[in-house]
Amino acid sequence: MRRPRPSPALRPPAFGYHGATSGKGAAKPSREDLYCEAVPLKILATRHGTPLYVYSAAMIRARLNAFAHAFRSIPHTLCYSVKANSTLGILRLVAGEGAGFDVVSGGELQRVLRASPKAADKVVFSGVGKTAAEMELALRSGILLFNIESASELYVLSATARRLKKPAAVAVRVNPDVSAKTHPYISTGLHQHKFGVPIPEARTLYALAAKQPYLKVAGVSVHIGSQITDVGSFQEALERVADLVRVLRKQGHDIRYVDAGGGLGISYEATQENFEKQITAYARAVLSPVRGLNLHLLLEPGRAIVGPAGVLLTRVLYRKTNNHKRFLIVDAAMNDLVRPSLYGAYHEIVPVSRASRETEVTDVVGPICETGDFFARDRKLPLVSEGDLLAILDVGAYGAVLGSNYNTRGRVAEVLVDGAKAGLIRRRESVSDQLRLEIS
Ligand SMILES: *Cc1c(COP(=O)(O)O)cnc(C)c1O
Repeated sequence: MRRPRPSPALRPPAFGYHGATSGKGAAKPSREDLYCEAVPLKILATRHGTPLYVYSAAMIRARLNAFAHAFRSIPHTLCYSVKANSTLGILRLVAGEGAGFDVVSGGELQRVLRASPKAADKVVFSGVGKTAAEMELALRSGILLFNIESASELYVLSATARRLKKPAAVAVRVNPDVSAKTHPYISTGLHQHKFGVPIPEARTLYALAAKQPYLKVAGVSVHIGSQITDVGSFQEALERVADLVRVLRKQGHDIRYVDAGGGLGISYEATQENFEKQITAYARAVLSPVRGLNLHLLLEPGRAIVGPAGVLLTRVLYRKTNNHKRFLIVDAAMNDLVRPSLYGAYHEIVPVSRASRETEVTDVVGPICETGDFFARDRKLPLVSEGDLLAILDVGAYGAVLGSNYNTRGRVAEVLVDGAKAGLIRRRESVSDQLRLEIS
């Protein structure tokens, strides 16, 4: 069983309850409303409809600043991992804070170029299956670094760079064979995973790269998985990377960058996370192996930046009881937020207006024709009625980006809140948007 969250009001600074008093001085509020920064969420639900993703700009800025502060002792660039949340409004905000980007496709690179053309020289390109066309776009855009994952890929990049006469800075993404102790679907650093190159083979790849006229050996990369809370795994991986850097330099390679990847986990649980403490421990784990190597560090956080900055608002359509089992049927579904169905992920769910102290044990499910279409099972929740709003918390990462059109449901609208301002950053997808590409 999960411990009850003390109160989401304790989640600084983005989401908290504020009393809806009737202006009668010290009278205890009869109802409390959930806000994102200075904006009541129920107003956004009325204005834009539900389901609706709402993000806090202050939270995203605070997370970026916390990373920058924790790594201030070493030259570094934050390359926000675009796949965690790739909406242009979010990318523009991140670029505005001076960060770079980690992309895993040509499409993501085009998003970055659209959001902030100036950010191109702070882009790293990761992924096991880059096509020549994607490499060409990246070379023409003048990105910072290619993370290479196989000899075959290295040859394609070499040929593409030579054809365009544009040199490519490369790092080999090594597979350090350490366990990230996370969900098997998002663990990437063990030898049986498709990602990276085993360290002994990586040395051969560096020798190969050095012989290509248009490739410039520049770094070593590692990324061992996602939602990692045991910082010891990062330290182990970086120790192996640091050893490799020393060997490669001895062989004459000019290694200037270590890309430590992303993967820092967040707390989805009821307990209050202490991010300050967590980021400090993470920085220590990453930095201690590479200290003194005179390197420029690249970091690719995704989830830790945007995860806690987003909620999904959904309205209760129906209450239903089947043989004493209770269900809240809501208007959001697995196509809008797939993490519970895909990973069995836990997300806190809270009422947008808190009036009753009464609770019930219930499932929270969507309208899709799949038993896997649920957000919570046997969850103790405050009693809510049909028509009430719920907020599913910590969905800023791997939420909207994993949305689909299953059941011909439109992709959800998204709103970015900044202080008292709230702006729509993605319109709700209509059925005609969906049908536009079809031929009949
Ligand atoms: C997914 C990914 C990241 C971001 O992971 P988070 O867990 O969201 O921080 C960073 N780098 C690479 C190469 C990735 O594939």
